[in-house]
Amino acid sequence: MFLVRGRFVVTVDEVNRVFRDGAVVVEGDRIVDVGFFEDMKKNYRCDMVVGDEWKIVLPGLINCHYHSREQLSQTMFPDGLGEATWFNNYCLPYHAVLTPEEEKSAFRLALYAMALNGVTTFADGGLLHPYTTLETLDEIPLRCLASTWCWDRAHIIPKTAEEAFEELVHLYSKFKGGFGGRLDVCATPISVTTCSEKLLRQVVEWARERGIKTFIHVSSFREEVEKTLSTWGVTPVQYLFERGLLNQDVNILHSIHLNMDDVERIVASGAGVVSCPYSSLKKGKGISVRGVFPEMLQRGVRVGLGGDGAPSAQHVDMLRTLSLFTGLCRDMRINASLPLAKDAIRFVTSTAADLLGLGHRVGSLEKGKKADIVLIDMRFPDFIPVLDVHQSLVFSATGAAVDTVIVDGRVVVEGRRVIGVDAERLVRESEVAAGKIAERLGLQRPM
Ligand SMILES: [Zn+2]
Repeated sequence: MFLVRGRFVVTVDEVNRVFRDGAVVVEGDRIVDVGFFEDMKKNYRCDMVVGDEWKIVLPGLINCHYHSREQLSQTMFPDGLGEATWFNNYCLPYHAVLTPEEEKSAFRLALYAMALNGVTTFADGGLLHPYTTLETLDEIPLRCLASTWCWDRAHIIPKTAEEAFEELVHLYSKFKGGFGGRLDVCATPISVTTCSEKLLRQVVEWARERGIKTFIHVSSFREEVEKTLSTWGVTPVQYLFERGLLNQDVNILHSIHLNMDDVERIVASGAGVVSCPYSSLKKGKGISVRGVFPEMLQRGVRVGLGGDGAPSAQHVDMLRTLSLFTGLCRDMRINASLPLAKDAIRFVTSTAADLLGLGHRVGSLEKGKKADIVLIDMRFPDFIPVLDVHQSLVFSATGAAVDTVIVDGRVVVEGRRVIGVDAERLVRESEVAAGKIAERLGLQRPM
């Protein structure tokens, strides 16, 4: 049993309790109690204390959407590309040439980057070689929702609906609750334009029957909406809604080009929404001019945040992502309280956990939950003085301030070092692997 101590313990529980000079009591993989440090010290016999009075203690951060297998393509593709060109001419060819060993390397590097940024749980966007790749969860033990790259209408990596569906079913039977319960399976039919209605229906219904979450890219960029309008005469949200394919177990990704009828369809269905604001801004997708996130928040839609992928956002810092998204929402409608910082923190903690179907296990610091905990170092000038810790977390903190990360009661990052990882070797090997991929794609090798 040990104590996790901080100047502030930010629980993100239902009433947003914050303990000043607080502590979390951890036994095994669970949180036993949360309260004031002196009380916890007195009430429990603990072997050690992690943290001190210069730390902010909060629940492990959650990345609701991340294409880990893209990690080796960081800046490999030219700058200045819109989503359609980027996806068809660069991203898909990259996915098509990646070997199982390269996918594993990319996944390992993604785990490393996420751990350093305080991400304890993430939903992967889809793997092609999951059986070997997921072995890396033993090397850097984060919590993961994994899936297979699921589609049946693409010209690259062609699959039939049956093949794509069977892969998902097999992955579920092999990995559900694997890696000591840190691995669960989700469904990721890529989008309305790359999946047939048959595949979408099979996957969404199968997942709902098992309480598995489905993630679909929806209204991510303008050309996607133009395509569904010209093909079926409906928006992507309308397409899913009218076919009964939106429900509380479905999360729609990006969701930029929505109209207010789409918002009402999302509200009526109970579907969740995941925004990836850095990806949207880098590719000029229109989030700041077309996004209706403030309206969705006002209507009670559950919103979480994702990093999307290395070539899309170029970092996996969920605290920077949180700051950007919160600022965007406020600025879009000239309303400094939409959302408040104390509510915004839920986009990467409790609401994010709920979207992943893990709300009963992670996302807040409460008795009985898994001990997934992040300690932020306050000794940066931007933090001092901390009077409103929620404002500090949303607007001052970045991944660079993450000092210690605990997953399942186990310290994974200590003093900004990922335990058990030879960082220099990992970075060097990743660069070599990326160079080989770039060469095969006829792109410039990384320097
Ligand atoms: Zn994606």
